Amino acid sequence: MRVLLAGDTHGDSRQATGLISVALAEGCEGIVVLGDWGFTWPTEYPRLLKWLHNQLQDVGLWMKFVDGNHENYTLLRDLGAFEGGVAVVRDREVPLADTVSYLPRGYTWEWDGIRFMSLGGAFSVDVDHRTSEWVHQRFGSSKYSGHLAAPGKNPARCRECDEEIRPHRRKPSWWPEELITDEDVEAASAVGPVDVMLTHDSPETTELRNELHNMRDAWNLGYKIDAVSAGNRRRLERVVEAVQPKFLFHGHYHMWIQGEYGETHVQGINRDGTGHASYSVFDTDHYRELIAARSAPSDEPQAGRLES
Ligand SMILES: [Zn+2]
Ligand SMILES: [Zn+2]
Repeated sequence: MRVLLAGDTHGDSRQATGLISVALAEGCEGIVVLGDWGFTWPTEYPRLLKWLHNQLQDVGLWMKFVDGNHENYTLLRDLGAFEGGVAVVRDREVPLADTVSYLPRGYTWEWDGIRFMSLGGAFSVDVDHRTSEWVHQRFGSSKYSGHLAAPGKNPARCRECDEEIRPHRRKPSWWPEELITDEDVEAASAVGPVDVMLTHDSPETTELRNELHNMRDAWNLGYKIDAVSAGNRRRLERVVEAVQPKFLFHGHYHMWIQGEYGETHVQGINRDGTGHASYSVFDTDHYRELIAARSAPSDEPQAGRLES
């Protein structure tokens, strides 16, 4: 079986159309988007989801996604995947339409004998320009200084001082659920070894660390090297160390980048609008061989590195 792995789509319908064409041309059964999927972004939902579903249904494909930091967690909460700011569904896919489903944090499944795990979540470095659903206005709008509502309470009450608070009138564009939690790490680490992880964030490989620091000029102090981003990577790394995947595919950094983290080959896929760099065909026959080669004890240099 062949599946198209795609980097961040950010709700971009042109990108979706392009990915569908590639998936058909490559004989793929469906598409997995590695977070920042965005087709239920608050102002577009449900119009865009319906559009996407129709496109997929017309050609007999499906689309699944892990959660990125730019995802509608209000909807994922309404669908039962998150509760009280914490991911709670890990044992099944969460359908949004007949053709579209969400792959929860720590969910595992098999395709042709290859064991996969999905684990979304990452930090929004532009959090201060975003609006959360419930911020205690009295304390200003910053997500750091503002008091957030305790999720799930109705009427919403401030997490810290328990006063009743009002929702922002603007559409939310940031959710505290975006970060991988210790609960996620524990639950995902307990499932035993997997062959392939599909994530939004990446473990910090040497290659990624160098690249992020090299972006100093464009981003002043470097890109996504802040403590919260690093903390999220560290939580992902703890899962990688526990379940020892041979391959990990991720989005989030908006670049095509490869590296090694321990025994794991890490492949970052670029975002919407970057053509060939925005997807990778995953052929289970091909990867079964690569996984077997990487699993075999050997003094030889490891086979199974990705080309390109
Ligand atoms: Zn992201
Ligand atoms: Zn993104």
